[in-house]
Order: sequence, then structure tokens, then C-alpha cells
Amino acid sequence: MRKYIRRSLAFAAIVAVPVAGAVFAQRTELNFPDIEGYVTLACDLHTHTVFSDGSVWPTVRADEAWRDGLDVLAITDHIEYLPHKDDVIIDFNRPYQIAKPTADDLHLLLIPGIEITRDEPHGHFNAIFIKDGNALNVEDQKDAVRIANEQGAFVFWNHPEWKRKGDTAWSEIQAEYLAKGWMHGMEVFNGDNYYPSAHKWCLKHNLTMLANTDIHGPRDYGADTDGVRTMTLVFARERTPEAVEEALRARHTVACSGNTLVGEAQWVAPLFYQSVTVQHPEGTLKEKQSLSVGVHNASPITFRLKAKGGVQGLSFPGALTLPAGKTVMLRLEGRNIRESGQRDVQLPYVVENIWIAPETYLPVTIDLKITFQKD
Ligand SMILES: [Zn+2]
Ligand SMILES: [Zn+2]
Repeated sequence: MRKYIRRSLAFAAIVAVPVAGAVFAQRTELNFPDIEGYVTLACDLHTHTVFSDGSVWPTVRADEAWRDGLDVLAITDHIEYLPHKDDVIIDFNRPYQIAKPTADDLHLLLIPGIEITRDEPHGHFNAIFIKDGNALNVEDQKDAVRIANEQGAFVFWNHPEWKRKGDTAWSEIQAEYLAKGWMHGMEVFNGDNYYPSAHKWCLKHNLTMLANTDIHGPRDYGADTDGVRTMTLVFARERTPEAVEEALRARHTVACSGNTLVGEAQWVAPLFYQSVTVQHPEGTLKEKQSLSVGVHNASPITFRLKAKGGVQGLSFPGALTLPAGKTVMLRLEGRNIRESGQRDVQLPYVVENIWIAPETYLPVTIDLKITFQKD
């Protein structure tokens, strides 16, 4: 036996022998397109570990984020709620320090963070890009938010309508933080919960819209049957923590949960048009004859379109689903063609699962060049 081992080792020293277990995980590539001038980064900026009330070790969060196709992760354990403190030595910088080598190994950007957790009407605030989490462990909630800001943190209000629904969630505390420049964004999605008032306040006060999982247990990979993991899409100059912070402060974000995107038109519109391409936009239409047009959706989001108005000379589908990662054939038919000749045609739709304000869908067009032939 011993002789055999020695011979094997000698062999391994000469030739790199394939070993079982070298491939240990798979990553789902999200394929959100970049938009002009920016890289699109998929971020989850609100997660928990055993260092507060989560149930996994920090390195597991990094592994999961990589498997889910994320680019950026923040671990944001509660300062005030520590059910595992008899078993885990609590140091608010440790989750980041422990997960960092794993994140680096996976080329995942890890952002240091913490959750400042107080009762209503204060609620919970995440501070990310902090320098020292332990310095935020102070009695007065406002001191914690102030110190986070003094450390240069990006601070956002978590799950604003978790306990106080609708406009009742807003109190003089949020108004004070806003006035002092201490609150920079809000979660419009926490997991699959959407907060329309938070969405409205972000638009009103020019705050950054975010969507995060706030995951506590291990990832349930069967849960995302409709869409992707909840995440904030950030449009950054480059793939660095500094560029992510700059983009967050400049409100270059789209909040994504399940199959729904929420964001300002200046970000969701280019994201849609970079995702959706018309494969053969030119064709000829005769009266009562049809023409097929391929429309490809490269993104991981299935877009649901509804027609808004008509186009002279042709009929087109009133409802159009563009499945994630697939191409559909769109069937047009010549109708009441008045004159022959080539025309630029814009099929007018709204995307029912892209919201630019509460209950307001993104308008889009599918652009074609049609040669009409009148009988
Ligand atoms: Zn919370
Ligand atoms: Zn949380």
C-alpha cells in the first residue's frame, strides 16, 4: 500500500492528474446586457449570516451569490439582534473579513456593510461601504446613522413598508435623515415584497431604488420559478467597488424582483432595448398576407408587452410575451393598405412588468421597415 502511494505521488509530481471534485459548483449567468457607457452589475446589498439572525456562515453567502450570477454582494448583519451570540464571537467586521477571501477567489465584489435595526417608526437602515462596523454599536439610533455617514457610508432604508403600510411608514425620523443627507436610498423590493410608497418617495426625493433579498436561511434554488433572484442592477463605469458606490449615489439603478423591473425610464429603457432585438426588421406586406418577424430577448427577464394603439396598413399582436433568452416570431398581416411604398413602422407597446412609477408601465416600440404593396 505504502509503495503504491509513493509511486502515485511521484507520478503526480510529473503529470497534473485530474482529480475528482475539481469542478465543484455551477453559476447561472444572468446575461443582463451592458448599456452604453456602463457595465451592468447584479448586486444583493442586504444579506444575513450567523453573525446576527442568519443561519449560514459568511463564506456561504459568497458561494451562493456566485452561483446566482451576482457581481456584487454585501453582508449586512444586524447590530442589535444577535441570537447566536453565545456560540459566535460577535465582531461586526468579521462577516466581511471571513467572506472576503472566498469572494476574491470567485471574482465577486464584496462590500462591507451592517444593518442598523430599531423599532418603528425608525425602522431598519443598511449602511454599506462602512469603515468599522463596531463603531456603529451605540445606544442612540441617530448616532449610529450619523457615524455611518461620517465613515462615508451609503445608507438606505430597508423594507420601509414592512410594519407600517403605505404613507404611514414615513415619519419625522426619515424626514430628518433626508434633510441631513443621511439617507441615500430605499428598498422598493425586499425579497418579493414591493413597496409602492417607497417607489413614490424615491422619485419625489431623488433617492436610489434598491431591491435585495434580505436572505437569512440558505438559498432555496427552487424558489425562482418566475424570474431571477431579487437584486439591484447597478450601471457602473467599471467593475470596481468605487464605481459601484459612485453609481449608487448617482441613482444608476434598476430594482429587480422575480420578473419585474422598477426604475427610472433613463435606465430601464436602454436595458430593454439592449435586451430585445428585431432579427429581420425589413419585409414586404400585401393586403391580407402575413409577414413573420423574429424578436429576440437576450435578458433573463420574460417581458410582457401590451399594445397601445394601432398602425395604419397592418395588424399585429395585442399581447406579446418575449420569453427570457428566446426568440419569438411576431406575425403581422396587411390590413387596409392605402398606398404602396416603404415606411418606418413603430409598433407601440407598454411593458407590463417594467414600472417607471407606481402603476405606470414603460412605453416601448418595436421598430420595423415595411414595404407595403397595395393591390
Ligand atoms: Zn431589517
Ligand atoms: Zn435584514
